[in-house]
Amino acid sequence: MAQHQLTTSSHGASGHQPVRTCVGCRKRGLRSELVRVVALRGRAVVDHRRRLPGRGAWLHPDQRCLTQAIRRKALPRALRVSGQLDTGELEDSFASGLVSGTQDEEGYGRPVPRRGNESRSTRHESAVKLKP
Ligand SMILES: [Zn+2]
Repeated sequence: MAQHQLTTSSHGASGHQPVRTCVGCRKRGLRSELVRVVALRGRAVVDHRRRLPGRGAWLHPDQRCLTQAIRRKALPRALRVSGQLDTGELEDSFASGLVSGTQDEEGYGRPVPRRGNESRSTRHESAVKLKP
């Protein structure tokens, strides 16, 4: 006779998965589905491996979520950044799709070729070490 199809949809298999709240749309999602963002020297960057220390903000890999987060200034608040938080690099990552499909931690971390990046970032290599 007809067997019951095992529909996994009704059976919430995500019981033990950690859940985070997206700072953009404020919806909750699985930790593995969200992108972790941290502040590094006043700049918001994607924490691809979700390993960086410090506070992290979570976002869906969706530009709209990022836009919302920026608009309501949720990022500096979530990251406890006082003062300016440069989100240019972060917007870049979202715009170029670098944040989608990052569930697999393995193999990530190879330098991404930056094409068409008219670098107007004020990257100051201030290797200032005053030695007597
Ligand atoms: Zn979201």
